[in-house]
Amino acid sequence: MKLICIGRNYTDHIAELANERPTDPVIFMKPDTSILPAKHPFFIPDFSDDVHHEVEILVKISKVGKHIDKKFAHKYYDQIGLGIDFTARDLQAQLKSKGLPWEKAKGFDGAAVIGDWLPKEQFENLNEVSFSLTKNGNKVQEGNTSLMLWKIDEIIEYVSKYFTLKIGDIIFTGTPAGVSKVEANDELIGYIGNQPMFTVTVK
Ligand code: MG
Repeated sequence: MKLICIGRNYTDHIAELANERPTDPVIFMKPDTSILPAKHPFFIPDFSDDVHHEVEILVKISKVGKHIDKKFAHKYYDQIGLGIDFTARDLQAQLKSKGLPWEKAKGFDGAAVIGDWLPKEQFENLNEVSFSLTKNGNKVQEGNTSLMLWKIDEIIEYVSKYFTLKIGDIIFTGTPAGVSKVEANDELIGYIGNQPMFTVTVK
């Protein structure tokens, strides 16, 4: 299975990193070995001094497909979740400045937090889902899928032009503003609406 991640999908986060607004979605992958096992703490890797949390809405693919039209995209996923795209920002900045791929900064072991899943039928409107992240009890990130530059069905249309989507693949749909460095002993809790979806302790 693969983890397909969308970068720069929220205007406010593009602004906070002083990135250019993309004309097409920015796509990268994380390997399956980056998935943080459930209930495990997240260990800050020794190659980074600036790991950031990025809370993101997740979509789980339920049907094989390629060249999926956005009109039919909803038939290809059945669950919505919440996760963290942990990013070694210092390493990413070095790689970006050299025009190199980001994988080391995004795909290291433990860099993908995947929380609980909810059936998509539970949502009245998937383009109106609010979510947030608290760090040690303080809300640090808050987003709503209505603010995505590319909505879920558009992401599926775009991504499936390049990559066959397989059952169990997971799409990370991008992060809103509020990313910040994590430190040992931080406790991160992600919410969809008021419902806690994961808790991660940082070591
Ligand atoms: Mg991200």
